[in-house]
Amino acid sequence: MKAIQTDVVIIGAGPVGLFQVFELGLQGLKAVVVDSLTQVGGQCSELYPDKPIYDIPAIPVASASDIVNSLQQQASPFQPTYLLGHRVENITKRAEHDFLLTTDQQVQIECSAVIIAAGNGSFEPVKLKVAGIEQFINKQLHYHVSNINTFQDKALVVLGGGDAALDWALALQKVAASVVLIHRSLNFRASQSNVNQMHQLCDELKMQFLCGQVTDFKQQDGRLTSLIVSGKDGVKRTLELEQLLVCFGQSPKNGPTASWGLDMFQHLICVDTEKFQTSTSGIYAVGDCNYYPGKRKLILSGFHESALAAFAIAQALNPAKRIATLYTTTSPVVHKRMGLD
Ligand code: FAD
Repeated sequence: MKAIQTDVVIIGAGPVGLFQVFELGLQGLKAVVVDSLTQVGGQCSELYPDKPIYDIPAIPVASASDIVNSLQQQASPFQPTYLLGHRVENITKRAEHDFLLTTDQQVQIECSAVIIAAGNGSFEPVKLKVAGIEQFINKQLHYHVSNINTFQDKALVVLGGGDAALDWALALQKVAASVVLIHRSLNFRASQSNVNQMHQLCDELKMQFLCGQVTDFKQQDGRLTSLIVSGKDGVKRTLELEQLLVCFGQSPKNGPTASWGLDMFQHLICVDTEKFQTSTSGIYAVGDCNYYPGKRKLILSGFHESALAAFAIAQALNPAKRIATLYTTTSPVVHKRMGLD
């Protein structure tokens, strides 16, 4: 497969990775942003989308998801390529200003510099802890919906009590033969309107809700045929199914960052505070994943780091040129790069 070519690869589409696109764009540099999640926003989107944030400069209050939307909008004039649902596994430095990155799906990207904005690590789905059930992954056991037709006319069980579980149970109820939602308690971490809609569909016998936990399964001829559900009432029920969708949320994993041969301090990537460059020239680290004396894991710290990393990369790629500070208000060069003239 032909490698994707770009100036800079940003590993991580959290708030800092998104702002990094903007800062690189101001320097005339194109970016590909890779994230293991299928959505942008990192911790903001995954852990607290509806919570208000009060310490983003000039925005007295906004929800985390609104901040993410605004960052994406701000980056959009520079037309970044988002490679979502891909985890960067390897970074190979072939020469100065020449890197090859490979994702877990064997997509390759060639670039002149790398910026790691990987936060606390790549988010991975929280797994269903039932011994042996992993043999059905991507056949009958799914942690995300990649093709809705997989569930068409099937007896589907959805596990989880958050918005993702409710959203998918409600959406797939229209295409599956039957849907049973299973959650370990009667308290949902989902919007009240979703919960109300689910109860209404149960009342209309269009889907079912079961309060309990999957503790075992049965199989026949290599196919998952039923789940054993231990109910809150102490009863063990056998539930037949054809497809299983697990929506237990995502948790950050340290992932491959530690194996990239960079100097680390307590699982964080050591950088200098002039360029935010790591121990390998041409690889930079910004946001929650980096360490320097005085580091604070705050979004605004990451924004500052992104700006200086972008200046440093522009300078490294154009050593003969003095990289001036250009104001977005008045610089015709910047306006041209933003597509404003
Ligand atoms: P992240 O947001 O962690 O994003 C990193 C991204 O990188 C993730 O999406 C991950 O999937 C991806 N990734 C990692 N490794 C790979 C890989 N190998 N390949 C592909 N993708 C990868 N900060 C504030 O400033 N103000 C607040 O009020 C505030 N409130 C918070 C409330 C909560 C509940 C939490 C948990 C955090 C809060 N924070 C707050 C902290 C803030 O969310 C983080 O500082 C910020 O998200 C860091 O951004 P980031 O872009 O560096 O990393």
